[in-house]
Amino acid sequence: MQMGYVDEVLQRVKSQNGEQKEFNQAVQEVLESLRPVIEQDEAKYRKQAILERLTTPDRQLLFRVSWVDDQGQTQVNNAYRVQFNNAIGPYKGGLRLHPSVNLSIIKFLGFEQIFKNALTGLPIGGGKGGCDFDPKGKSDREIMAFCQSFMTELAKYIGADMDVPAGDIGTGAREIGYLFGQYKRLKGVYEGVLTGKGLEFGGSLVRTEATGYGLLYLVDALLRDHEQTLKGKVIAVSGAGNVAIYAIKKAQELGAKVVTCSDSTGWIYDPEGIDLELLREVKEVKRERLTAYAENRPSAQYHEGRGVWQVKVDVALPCATQNELALEDAKQLVANGVLAVAEGANMPTTLEATKYFQENGVLFVPGKAANAGGVAVSALEMSQNSERLSWTFAETDEKLKAIMENIYYTIKDAAKEYGVADDFVLGANIAGFKKVATAMQAQGVY
Ligand code: GLU
Repeated sequence: MQMGYVDEVLQRVKSQNGEQKEFNQAVQEVLESLRPVIEQDEAKYRKQAILERLTTPDRQLLFRVSWVDDQGQTQVNNAYRVQFNNAIGPYKGGLRLHPSVNLSIIKFLGFEQIFKNALTGLPIGGGKGGCDFDPKGKSDREIMAFCQSFMTELAKYIGADMDVPAGDIGTGAREIGYLFGQYKRLKGVYEGVLTGKGLEFGGSLVRTEATGYGLLYLVDALLRDHEQTLKGKVIAVSGAGNVAIYAIKKAQELGAKVVTCSDSTGWIYDPEGIDLELLREVKEVKRERLTAYAENRPSAQYHEGRGVWQVKVDVALPCATQNELALEDAKQLVANGVLAVAEGANMPTTLEATKYFQENGVLFVPGKAANAGGVAVSALEMSQNSERLSWTFAETDEKLKAIMENIYYTIKDAAKEYGVADDFVLGANIAGFKKVATAMQAQGVY
């Protein structure tokens, strides 16, 4: 008997990229849930090699970044830009700066970005980049030297209508500023080649808040659709970066109590609710560890290691990094009666943990839907740059809210149409896939 097309491509991806475990994991999650769509017209999809084309990046760039540290020593890092798929718009996706960065991680993120960006309803394709550079502990001058060197090579491959990078872990407003300055110097033109820019030079209001706010707008829509609200809900958040901070802010505004956050060395349990001003002071201004939060907050307990998922909560929002929520954590959350889990980070939940949530009736929303607010406002920044205008905070925030609500109903409807109601993993993958596949078919084979 001939093997099914989905299994055939899964096997092909595995044999070609065997050692790339994050990329394989992301492909497996997406392809498994596409079965009902593929099976409807398997011969056509196979003939067009849609899944092979979708799981193979259009272009993968690997390059060296050399820069001089404060001791005068030249340092060498490995950088990447994966231009995955531009069927529906220019490649779009962030740049991650973290020592763990490798080709597998950038490919998984770029692959996820294809579907996420399609779900926003805006014309943006999927891409991702990054470098194994560790921004932690670096001086401002070292960050600038690194960013200038990184952009000197990257500039050859990007452009406002071609590939538009943005922030991700380790890349915030400061780094985007240095990268943008270098691009402008090299090309001699001002163009919206990066998003997440400073407000003074073409950035969009709400971009900083967008991922965290968007996450809560989506969770709000999800709960309302299930006869619940965020009011009075107890929430566990992991992470203490840009996504976590603005998720906490919006959760509090909507009447919930967030009792945890975490960083790479430990986590906070604060039963009175996270003091956002203090957290921002510690993380954004002083760039310190969470121990500094606990030292200044009598109600908070600091614990070494990981543990936010042990706390009894109604809603869990993983906002740190990939595979931070494993099967054991899912079991603990379910035993504690968790109602909903929505991913603020990219693929923070392992495949086993996701399945466990779904089998136990937890409302689970994957990152490609739940955290799409960041890239959605990036696309709105591109629109503003193109029309040489800046929208108000209220206008942009309203658009973000409408986009997130629209994403929720899109993934809900797709799930209902093709499989099980409330399987938002299936819904997100199918809705994203259909848009991109239709565009690929319309544009012919190349
Ligand atoms: N890094 C963010 C993400 O994972 C944002 C990307 C962007 O704004 O282009 O979606």
